[in-house]
Amino acid sequence: MAKRIGLYPGTFDPLTLGHIDIIERAVKLVDELVIGVAINRDKGPLFSLEERVAMVAEEMQPIQKASGVIIKVTPFESLLMHFAESVKADIIIRGLRAVSDFEYEFQMVGMNQALNDEIETVFLMADARYQAIASRLVKEIARLGGDISSFVPPRAAAALKAKFAR
Ligand code: ADP
Repeated sequence: MAKRIGLYPGTFDPLTLGHIDIIERAVKLVDELVIGVAINRDKGPLFSLEERVAMVAEEMQPIQKASGVIIKVTPFESLLMHFAESVKADIIIRGLRAVSDFEYEFQMVGMNQALNDEIETVFLMADARYQAIASRLVKEIARLGGDISSFVPPRAAAALKAKFAR
């Protein structure tokens, strides 16, 4: 049987426990998972692309080991569907938090289906403990000196602290 490849795209600025929970669920569905780290200049990311790729890659080793799924962390700048085609993805994985995510995701799926109707988008929900976590809010809390240790992995927490210590 052909191996099933999943693509989980995002900005990961920074990687949160919500993202990790989605990744742990996604590896149950695929033989290989590509985590696409978007350049996303428009969003004015706090962490550089290189920092975000490294941040994600560092946390993937235990998940890869436990699941036996090959996990690749790859930056991308192109159109999502073009990137999905280039990595031969069968499915695109997205996380859904609240109703607020739905509107945007609904539109994205509609547009992406028009671009390529062969690649399905699959939505996963994180454990209730992680559903409220958003990178944007984590950055805000960190900037104001709050404790973000229950939202992000320890290495990401340290990296955030270092960013805002300057
Ligand atoms: P984007 O810039 O595309 O919003 P993010 O890095 O914020 O990328 O998130 C990537 C994906 O992970 C998106 O599908 C987003 O909805 C999902 N996600 C982020 N945080 C959570 C969370 N706490 N629970 C579930 N899904 C999440």
